[in-house]
Amino acid sequence: MEEEYKKELKFQTRAVHVGNDIDKETKAIKRPITMGNSYKLPYDPSNLNWSSADSNLYTRNGGSNQQYLQERIRSLENGEDCVVLASGVAALSGLFFALLESGDHVIFSSVTYIATYRLLNELLNNKFHVETTIVDTSDIDAVKSAIRPNTRLIHIETPGNPTISITDISAIAEIAHEHGALLSVDNTLASPFNQRPLELGADFSIESLTKYINGHGDSMGGSITGKKEYLDIIRQQSQVNLGGTISPFNAWLIMRGSVTLPLRMRQHNENAQKVAEFLESNPAVSFVSYPGLKSHENHEVAASQMSPGFGGVLSFGLKADHDTHNRFVSNLRLITSAVSLGHDESLIVFIGEDDERQYLYPEEFHHGFFRFSVGIEDPDDIIEDIKQALERLKMQQE
Ligand SMILES: *Cc1c(COP(=O)(O)O)cnc(C)c1O
Repeated sequence: MEEEYKKELKFQTRAVHVGNDIDKETKAIKRPITMGNSYKLPYDPSNLNWSSADSNLYTRNGGSNQQYLQERIRSLENGEDCVVLASGVAALSGLFFALLESGDHVIFSSVTYIATYRLLNELLNNKFHVETTIVDTSDIDAVKSAIRPNTRLIHIETPGNPTISITDISAIAEIAHEHGALLSVDNTLASPFNQRPLELGADFSIESLTKYINGHGDSMGGSITGKKEYLDIIRQQSQVNLGGTISPFNAWLIMRGSVTLPLRMRQHNENAQKVAEFLESNPAVSFVSYPGLKSHENHEVAASQMSPGFGGVLSFGLKADHDTHNRFVSNLRLITSAVSLGHDESLIVFIGEDDERQYLYPEEFHHGFFRFSVGIEDPDDIIEDIKQALERLKMQQE
């Protein structure tokens, strides 16, 4: 299939075709996995750049399965260039270490994946003298007033893990660019099916491929998509020097999983909306945070930047104590208590009162809450499971 033709195709078609082609050697209609670590050198290798990330030389510098996946993710994110790495955290650290230096200032969301907080606020701040400010980035004015002359990067996550807060991507992009800073968006909870940060003005879109893009809970990966001028630097640092290269097998698995991203996301969107509405109407539930609900404080912003849906992750609490939250989870029969999200199956995790960042969250999150990744099972079965787990709580109390 011609490359130019592929570019004209719709998202769902590109998820099937971009990055795949007829294998030249066997004529197989799926490209194979290449597990070799090293590649035959040219007749005279003396002029080779041993640290190049652009040629097939040594698999840490890059390999073919990784490159196929990069083509696909770049296309789905609608970006200029993409690097795929060993995990979502490898992507985050690759970006931060490649772009930041001591003396730089970073503004980041008060709601982010925990490793983002550790990387920026502990590792880069304490050991490498990068200045950091934690801000509720759903508050545009708070972001504006946090800007310093040395602000190099604003990093946001929307929807944010674990409170499912929403940040206005184009508004923050405008502030960043007005002050000569870059904007990176962790897009993992939305996936490029529902939200494409680069189209909204962000400089980088980060995905944990481990989550929705692979979608089957059986491999890890991460990606950074953005302009080539930065991606060249990031690729060099994150792979060749920091060694965050993805394994060919994981790249192949994620390639396979990503084919059905649009189909799965439609079901995640639909199921999460139904489950969120069910929870909101249940008297045992203290609050539900899901951007598809009108009650979400930033529903309007979410609706303006997410389409066709709001993803599969929500958070909620019960009008109950810590122990009752745990008993609710142990009463579940279908939904599994486990970390991670974006898998085919429903996963729930109880986040207790001792999260060190809880003081940054709104009041309703201070007493412990669930992060719930709604799977693609039949939504009636998911809702039934929650109902019976709540029923059994009542019996346990009597
Ligand atoms: C899981 C997750 C990450 C980290 O990804 P890994 O693949 O587990 O390293 C980063 N950001 C968000 C929002 C995540 O949910």
